[in-house]
Amino acid sequence: MAKLEHIANFIGGQMKPPVSGDYFDTVEPATGKAYARVPDSDARDLEDAVQAAQKAFPAWQSVKRADRAAPLKKLASLIERDMEQFILAESRDNGKPVSLCRAVDIPRGIANLRAYADAASTFGGQDYDSPALKSYTLRQPYGVVATISPWNLPLLLFTWKFAPALASGNCVIAKPSEVTPMTAYMLSALVNEAGFPPGVFNVLHGKGAKIGAAITEHPDIPAISFTGGTATGTTIYKGASARLKKVSLELGGKNPTVVFDDANFDEAVEGAKTAAFANQGQVCLCGSRLFVQDSIYDRFRDALIKKTEAIKLGDPSDKDTQHGATVSAEHMQKILCYIALARDEGGTILTGGRRRILPGRCKDGYFIEPTVIENLPHTCRTNQEEIFGPVVTLMRFTDEAEAVAMANGTQYGLAASIWTGDDARARRMAAQLETGIVWINCWNRRDDLRTPFGGYKKSGVGREGTYDSMAFFTQQKTVSMPK
Ligand code: NDP
Repeated sequence: MAKLEHIANFIGGQMKPPVSGDYFDTVEPATGKAYARVPDSDARDLEDAVQAAQKAFPAWQSVKRADRAAPLKKLASLIERDMEQFILAESRDNGKPVSLCRAVDIPRGIANLRAYADAASTFGGQDYDSPALKSYTLRQPYGVVATISPWNLPLLLFTWKFAPALASGNCVIAKPSEVTPMTAYMLSALVNEAGFPPGVFNVLHGKGAKIGAAITEHPDIPAISFTGGTATGTTIYKGASARLKKVSLELGGKNPTVVFDDANFDEAVEGAKTAAFANQGQVCLCGSRLFVQDSIYDRFRDALIKKTEAIKLGDPSDKDTQHGATVSAEHMQKILCYIALARDEGGTILTGGRRRILPGRCKDGYFIEPTVIENLPHTCRTNQEEIFGPVVTLMRFTDEAEAVAMANGTQYGLAASIWTGDDARARRMAAQLETGIVWINCWNRRDDLRTPFGGYKKSGVGREGTYDSMAFFTQQKTVSMPK
């Protein structure tokens, strides 16, 4: 058997093995086979990284703001140069189709770096003027900060987290998910070439419960930006609050898609399908609860089933594949358990509902058919808990008030999309929905990454986005003097 590639940590400008010498396998979801080994890092690797970052911080924070942008821009260009390798690696590591990596994941990763490079120059303090006093604020970095990111959009969320931290003058320790470490590793191999001084940016691989927990507990990391599940976020919040750390938490969702009978029918069906099944349903923003007005329910359901059955499931490396593998055997089992639960709760599986066994190299892959379920009350567990897979439930509503009540009826509050031809109704509902983001007649559209991003209720604490993230990673100092 060929020797598996060993991923390394990136600390102080150097690739380093874990101090323990221990590794674990990372698996290709489309084949179920291990294809690389990941450092099982522990507190000793973290200490090494913290020291490297502390050493680099005094010089990095005094680099002119515009000059901090240069290595971020260079890093973006280097990833663009190596685009094809990044696309193939992301698809292999995560199970998502190459077409999606090409259209979304890798270009968005690059766009994140560029957006925050621009923000490095434009984000700053404010002036305040009063008759007797002149004041201004400085926005200053914390020092060594950490980012912890999930597996569903590996490079996209990894860059989204660390770029503002660097742009605002912090040194960073970034931990990607143990399930999808490859593109973070590839990116770390470009950091020196991009021109970052050693120690400014460090990447530690390993298990959340071990290295992630060590990051949360470390006394010299005063700020942590986390994206992941609500349960993990709660653990991090508790650990961080005991040490008075600043945290940004982007957490889970159980997002409603609400379709009124005056919506553009075809656009609404297409939009609802994409919201439900994008990235195999593994996007925090996915519309996993679909509320359709009574008068069009039957027609909408039939059209949705037809569209869902036309989704091309297959080997993620095939350029025509639209629906790849779920990320791991464990996650696939979790999703299948939820489908079984939906049956137990009285749900009717309209299409999908099973693991799909593909021929050839993907015969052991973790594929689940896009699944549509109806006949479940909106209060049941299937409709309350985040499944994070290709599963959408269909529910009827009669009027706006009922739609709002059901849409708001979960502990989550990340995003919602409303489909209607009535602009006044859409805006009225947008104000009433308890979510951080509302899309009207669209789903997952972002305004150049500037608009605030984050959740109400158990979907998060804080907001991200170019200026919000820069604000998170800086502390304000007010300077005042008499006139
Ligand atoms: P997890 O919460 O399991 O993991 C997220 C990150 O936290 C990973 O890097 C993980 O490491 C790490 N981690 C795990 N345990 C700990 C711990 N005790 N201390 C510190 N770090 C830890 O989420 P998933 O990776 O499963 O991602 C899916 C979840 O992320 C979904 O709930 C989804 O909704 C949410 N999400 C939210 C987004 C948002 O913007 N609101 C965007 C994307 C996803 P490891 O992988 O090594 O265990």
